[in-house]
Formats: sequence, C-alpha cells, structure tokens
Amino acid sequence: MKYNIAVIPGDGIGPEIVREAQKVLDAAAKKYGFTLEYTELLMGGASIDANGSPLTDETIETARANDAVLMGSIGGDAKTSPWYQLPPSLRPEAGLLKLRKSLNLFANLRPAYLYEELKAACPLRDEIIGDGFDLLIMRELTGGLYFGARSTVEEDGVRKATDTLVYNEKEIRRIAVKAFDIARKRRKEVCSVDKANVLDSSRLWRSVVEEVAKDYPDVELSHMLVDNCAMQLVRDPGQFDVILTENMFGDILSDEASMVTGSIGMLSSASLNETKFGLYEPSHGSAPDIAGQGIANPIATVLSAAMMLRYSLDLDEAADAVEAAVKQVLSEGYRTGDIMSDGCTRVGTVQMGDLIAARV
Ligand code: NAD
Repeated sequence: MKYNIAVIPGDGIGPEIVREAQKVLDAAAKKYGFTLEYTELLMGGASIDANGSPLTDETIETARANDAVLMGSIGGDAKTSPWYQLPPSLRPEAGLLKLRKSLNLFANLRPAYLYEELKAACPLRDEIIGDGFDLLIMRELTGGLYFGARSTVEEDGVRKATDTLVYNEKEIRRIAVKAFDIARKRRKEVCSVDKANVLDSSRLWRSVVEEVAKDYPDVELSHMLVDNCAMQLVRDPGQFDVILTENMFGDILSDEASMVTGSIGMLSSASLNETKFGLYEPSHGSAPDIAGQGIANPIATVLSAAMMLRYSLDLDEAADAVEAAVKQVLSEGYRTGDIMSDGCTRVGTVQMGDLIAARV
C-alpha cells in the first residue's frame, strides 16, 4: 500500500526534527510493508523567504491532495527575525492558522503520556503519579468563544467588551464522533468536559455528546465540569483516557496536561478534519535558540508521525512499533539535552533518530 504524505519542515529546528521522523517512518514502512511518498512544502518563514507569503494557495491545494501532512514547526525569534517586521497577516504563524482553516481541521488531539523513565521531570508527587498516566485531550478547534462575534464599545463613558460563545449541534456532533472513534483505539473511555451548570452552549454540548454516545455502547461516557477537570488533572491524571472538550476549555486544559508530563520535547499533536486527513506536528515551537546545533529532541515529531500512522493511515501496528521503539530508547538511557538526567547517555538529534529507527 502506498500513501502520500506532505512534509512541511518549517523553520528553526523544524527541518532537523522532521528529517528524523521521516527516518523512523521509513523504518516502519520497510518493516510493515507499506510505502510513503513525500512531497516537501514550504510554510512559515521559509515560505516568506521563497514566496513573500507564509502560505501560498498552491501549497494548500498540494497539502489537501495528500493523505496527511507531517510538520516540524514554524516561526523565528520575534525580537530579531525580519519576519516579525511584517504585518501580522504575513508573519509565519498566519500560514499555520490559514492552513488549519483551509483544511477544516476542527479536532485537535494532544496526548499527555508519562514515560516511567522521565518521571523525574513530572512536577507531581510520586503518590499522585501512581502508575503513571496516558490521556488524550480532544479539543474543538474551529468554533466557540475564539470564533464568535466580538465587540468593544463605549456607553456613557464606560467601555464594554463582548465575546460570544456559539456552538451548533453539527459542530458538537462531528467532534464527539471523532472522540468516540479515537477512544475505540484506546481504553474506550470518554470524559466530556463542559460547564453545563452555567452555560447554555455546554448544556447543548452535553446533550449532543449523549446522543452520539448511543452509537458507541462499547465506549464509557462520563461528564465533568471544567473547573473540576482542571483540579483532577493535577490530583489524579491517571483517571482519564480521552477528554473531549470545546475550544477555550481545551486550550487551557491541554496546556495544563502537557505541563504535568514536564518535557516539552516529547509532546506530539494532531489536528483532524471529518475525513481521515490530518496535520501532525509537535506541540513545541521552532526553538530558534537551539536551531542548527543538532541538539533538538526529535521525539515529539516522531510521536506525531506515529499518530499519523494510527489516525490517518490506520496502520496501528506500525504506530505501536514506533511508540515502543521510543520507549525502548528511553529505557536504554539515551537522552537529548532537554531530557538529560544523571547516569544517562546524551545524544544529538540525528543519533536519537537513528536509535529509534533501529528499534522499530
Ligand atoms: P519553543 O517551543 O520553540 O521553545 C521553548 C523552549 O523549549 C526553548 O528553550 C527551546 O529551545 C525548547 N525546546 C522546544 N522544543 C524543543 C525540542 N524539540 N528539543 C529541545 N528543546 C526544545 O517556544 P518559543 O521559544 O516560545 O517559540 C519559538 C518560535 O516558535 C516562535 O516563533 C513561535 O511563534 C513559534 N511556535 C510555533 C509553533 C508551531 O509551529 N505550531 C508552536 C509554538 C511556537
């Protein structure tokens, strides 16, 4: 079987870490008998330099024609890079926002997984960590408060600002379906997070999620208020499998969940649309402070590539093998500088990619 993958190396450490992820993907392809054909695309600062714009229409169309997009990260140092002298709509980040919107990527997935070997980086106490945690936040990405009408007016000398939180049932249903589908590939539990004791949008959210749940009798659904969820994530993160939530709650909770793992270089992410298509990228940025030094941790991008195998290509076995290879490399004591600890062996970006690829 052959799959077409658009690759956006991006800026800063992007090209270095994407190269390693491709190396690992190629090892998986060889082992599991599939072929990946890559088309490299420019976005962000690299596209500004080449085309005068962070994302061209041609790039969007080429990305769309592929089975999935694998991305590094985009952007430069906001203080020193000439890209940030441009108007906001022409800066690197505008390219990513436009790509997400053009491809209708409404479901954002951010796993938070605690590796036994990296427990020391977790800010939680051992008795809270227990046997560790392996959760996934599914955040609605294209609706809600960030996309509703907003205004600032002055009435009788008093300034007043309004933001609107709008969801319709179709927007809720399509992300709920994604959450239940993905829960079926995991431990089959969905916790839907809302503020249904106060907000109408949350009451609609809850009732639509319950309707969708009827089609998934094998998946257990629970509901939790967002304020409680924020507490539970630091009190007992091990209780969660898939957390399904709307845009603003997800924005906050996904950052909280990332922080409890403690290692930015390990955090993968995916953004999906209604089909199998998705954009896969590490949660971290382009780290211009360490670009070109060969020391960036490629694991977040490697794990994003594993998500691509699982969610866009349905190659679960290959995805499992990549994740197991990452675990093995960590248990053998290899670390990039960002996750280094006493007694471990420090390796660079390329070496880490080689080690993982060899263990797939
Ligand atoms: P950052 O995530 O790039 O870096 C924060 C810190 O973490 C830095 O010290 C960096 O060296 C370190 N770091 C990040 N990833 C690492 C890795 N894989 N290995 C080792 N260390 C790593 O965040 P920032 O410095 O705030 O942003 C830098 C640029 O990235 C900005 O232009 C920002 O807009 C952009 N950015 C892009 C994305 C994206 O492409 N989706 C996301 C966030 C930030």
